[in-house]
Amino acid sequence: MLHGKNLINGQWVGSEDTTASVDLANISFAQANLNQVEEACQAARAAFRTYSQKSRSERAVFINKIADEIDLLGDEITDIGIRETGLPEVRLIGERGRTTGQLRMFASVIAKKDYLDIRIDEALPERQPLPRPDIRLTHRGLGPVVVFGASNFPLAFSAAGGDTASALAAGCPVIVKGHSAHAGTAELVGQAIANAIQACNMPNGTFQLLQGSGRKIGSALVQHPEITAVGFTGSTAGGRILYDMCHSRPNPIPFYGELGSVNPVFCLPHALTKRAQTIGKDWAASLLMGAGQFCTNPGVLLALKGECFTALQDAAVKALNAGAEQKMLTDSIHTAYHDGISKFARSAQEITDGQRAQNPRHSRAAGFRVDASTWLNTPSLHEEVFGAAGIFVECDSEQQMMQVAQELQGQLTITLQMEESDTDLAKALLPIIEEKAGRILCNGFPTGVEVSSAMMHGGPYPASTDSRSTSVGTLAIARWLRPLAFQNFPASLLDADL
Ligand code: NAP
Repeated sequence: MLHGKNLINGQWVGSEDTTASVDLANISFAQANLNQVEEACQAARAAFRTYSQKSRSERAVFINKIADEIDLLGDEITDIGIRETGLPEVRLIGERGRTTGQLRMFASVIAKKDYLDIRIDEALPERQPLPRPDIRLTHRGLGPVVVFGASNFPLAFSAAGGDTASALAAGCPVIVKGHSAHAGTAELVGQAIANAIQACNMPNGTFQLLQGSGRKIGSALVQHPEITAVGFTGSTAGGRILYDMCHSRPNPIPFYGELGSVNPVFCLPHALTKRAQTIGKDWAASLLMGAGQFCTNPGVLLALKGECFTALQDAAVKALNAGAEQKMLTDSIHTAYHDGISKFARSAQEITDGQRAQNPRHSRAAGFRVDASTWLNTPSLHEEVFGAAGIFVECDSEQQMMQVAQELQGQLTITLQMEESDTDLAKALLPIIEEKAGRILCNGFPTGVEVSSAMMHGGPYPASTDSRSTSVGTLAIARWLRPLAFQNFPASLLDADL
């Protein structure tokens, strides 16, 4: 049951300013005000001291309880999510499973102490010329953190998404700035977390949810002195502004932003000869998924010119033209997509049928072709267009393919479509693309990010604002931890892990 309020220090509270939901009849969402930002940040700070001192197993029980509560709300969440985002039922059910899976994964991560990376240098009192003291290093949660819900993942990257799950696991209270694209979904998930807080007797400020659009709330949250780190998934422009705010505070804090990526796919010559049509068809299928609204959407496909390039392109275009129009997440994303494909059309040749969607907020895929020299000289073609927009880059030679690789911006992923006989070229490309991406794939496509120990979802800027970290997978917990060393501590003062 939705009431359109914000969750602050354990209470659902309204505000003087409300915005009617675009997608849900008869509901308006209270827009948090600056006093409420202050209240939430103070409550999060007060919660930190208690929450961070809870044992690892107590926090694990709490995080598992959140997952159980989300399971209990299952169909209701799916129903609201469909209405707000236009995403299909199967996707939302899958995303809910991913969200509860992530929560349970982080609960199991902290059930063992490995993530604390404890290092113990025992005292060497007899060492000459100076004795060595006993030093024990562990990791502690940073403090209260802010998480921005992502427009494109109403569950897995929003209220109880990977950023929230990893921060709670690290011992950090979380304030979520909900995304206006799915305020109702966030509220339902917020209710599930509030139930878990009560059931597990955690401090009220352990999790809070503020809704609001127009930049005011987000800016105030990231600049609040009690906030110690920020997790974000969204636009490069917005993320960059928030990053700059975090770094120009009197006490600068880390900003973990996942921004833009075009996820290039290099189709190497022997793979092109052997599998042109399959690669073209599969690339199109990956591009069409979720109306292309994935951060790992493969927006650029490179191959050598010739007959096989044409076969590759024809297979992809056939599949793209056959794709049905799909609803996009928000009006502004829909507008940005159409502006983006108009921008591409100014420098590249559109090779799909050029027909646009008929229904409001819907889109159809758009494919473009350009020669590598034009691509190299046109920076606007290097930027992400969020949606099912793809560019074929036709290279004259392997050398030119390497030149394109050299000019790529930072990427979440780069894919090599290759046969064993392409190994020499792959080896030549690797030193270049290793500098450019967080994850490199051989064959396959980058959409469908596995949530696991070895996953890396981040990359050099603008893929993310800190290429040393990931927002997916168990390593994501490291973003919210800081090392802390204890020197010459008596056993009575050390925690059990040390
Ligand atoms: P967005 O405009 O960056 O907004 C994301 C969140 O950040 C919202 O909560 C927004 O708050 C806040 N925000 C943005 N700029 C801000 C600023 N200057 N000051 C304070 N808060 C700010 O992203 P979006 O709404 O999700 O989608 C817009 C575009 O982002 C898409 O068209 C796409 O290009 C990109 N996007 C990329 C990915 C990816 O994974 N690469 C994912 C999603 C979206 P308000 O609601 O208050 O504005």
